[in-house]
Amino acid sequence: MTIVYRYGKTYYVNLTNRCPCKCIFCVRNRTDALGDAECLWLDREPTPEEVISELETKDLSESGEIVFCGYGEPTERLDDLIAAAKMVKEKLGKKVRLDTNGLGNLINGRDIVPDLAGCVDRISISLNASDPAEYLEITRSRFGIGSYQAVLDFIAECRELIQGVTVSIVGGYIPEESERKCAEIAGRFGVAFRVRRADRSVMADGHPSDGCSEPMLRQGLFARSREQRRASCRD
Ligand code: SF4
Repeated sequence: MTIVYRYGKTYYVNLTNRCPCKCIFCVRNRTDALGDAECLWLDREPTPEEVISELETKDLSESGEIVFCGYGEPTERLDDLIAAAKMVKEKLGKKVRLDTNGLGNLINGRDIVPDLAGCVDRISISLNASDPAEYLEITRSRFGIGSYQAVLDFIAECRELIQGVTVSIVGGYIPEESERKCAEIAGRFGVAFRVRRADRSVMADGHPSDGCSEPMLRQGLFARSREQRRASCRD
């Protein structure tokens, strides 16, 4: 099972496959492979110690930061995310980035941003839409129509407590006018804005997030079923 994988020069941590969303563009519906990983479906969730041990086997010299991302939403494992991120900084001397769908407060039932601020240098938050209905249509969040406001609140708080905040959308899945509105929202927050580009010929009916987004969008389309693919991962 793949706990750590490299994409380009950067190393990513695959902490969990859990996620409260079923985004229409999620790359998990399309491919198991990403970067140098053949399969990102986990047999079990790794401990923070296993994450660090795995990272210690890699040449991290060209990886400017370690990114918590993977095939799921990292804040689903908040305590382990925080523990692993702190070890990355203290033991490995690396900066930490979190790629998240921004629903961590709903997932954990409390305000998690102060905790994240203590161990995350940069955070990339998937906005994905310009209003609550559009967001729900795109992400199919299990938290329902209130999810969008939760993401906006999360962005606002991160802006106050974390230095590097980026808001992102996946280009081509919402109308251009909505994309413009998303850029305006990021502008009002005073944070960076990024459009992640999806190859729709590949992602015909799937979706990505920043945690598992941009690099994944460039992967090929697998013809096998999801269950077949999961089974083969465990071979
Ligand atoms: S794109 Fe990210 S947030 Fe959306 S379903 Fe996939 S893992 Fe979850």
